[in-house]
Amino acid sequence: MRHLDHDHELLLSVDFEDWHQLVRRRIGVSGWATPGPALGRQTAALLDLLDELGVKATFFVLGMAARAHPRLVEHVVARGHEIGCHGDTHLPVFSQSPAEFAADLRTARETIEAITGRRPLGYRAPAFSITENCAWAYGVLADQGFAYDASQHDSPRIRDRIAPASAGPHPMQAEGTTLWEFPVAVWHGPRGRLPVGGASYWALLPTGLVLRGLRGAGSMAGLYLHPHELDPQPLRVGLPARTSPGQRAHAALRGVQRNAARRRAPEVLRAIAERHPLITYGEAHARVSRGTTAGP
Ligand SMILES: [Zn+2]
Repeated sequence: MRHLDHDHELLLSVDFEDWHQLVRRRIGVSGWATPGPALGRQTAALLDLLDELGVKATFFVLGMAARAHPRLVEHVVARGHEIGCHGDTHLPVFSQSPAEFAADLRTARETIEAITGRRPLGYRAPAFSITENCAWAYGVLADQGFAYDASQHDSPRIRDRIAPASAGPHPMQAEGTTLWEFPVAVWHGPRGRLPVGGASYWALLPTGLVLRGLRGAGSMAGLYLHPHELDPQPLRVGLPARTSPGQRAHAALRGVQRNAARRRAPEVLRAIAERHPLITYGEAHARVSRGTTAGP
């Protein structure tokens, strides 16, 4: 039986991207952009799990993945989930100039709008890559019409990260307008910071510790999953015959790391959903921004 803590909601998100595309590009396999069948079965499993739990999530959609799999993005919308933006090509924000970042956002948004007919309000940076060296990114996001960002993640594993001004949702001033920030769940526990919001971390932690950490992380902290973490089949990169031994070793390592997260994600999410109401970022934004946008 559920004992939902209604005073402690959490924000649920999916970084919607094609793991096979990204790994194959990273290790330099030719034809890496060719869409495969994996994202379809991963998305089906993920949407079924969200329906089972009776929750809606925000899908931060990568433009490149959406162009390869437009029907899947349509399914996500049809099942009632919010569509956000994960950029277009999944290159770190800190590796781009402001003009390149603006162009990446525009391309992603045009792709998403063409498929869904909706304008995404929120943004999540690839690998949480808005760092101290590129805090200008918030101004670009505001300038491009985004209402909120969900990229701050105070994880010790992210170099030069921007520490959130507050663990919960908070307004930031950018380009003369308000951009809301929704940080990922991090517990400041007795032994230091423990990131508990991402399914890749759930692979390394007992479920009880994740739940304790989420209680400590505060209300409206962010959770994130990836479709590949719900894959009903083991992840294999699938390399063409002409692949070097080094590329094969790299691909095998990525598979081992990701399969550990894949085995744990559904049971941990079920345990979280038994204790906390899970809502979309858009719903949270509508609620927190009420009263701050009303002018005189
Ligand atoms: Zn991503």
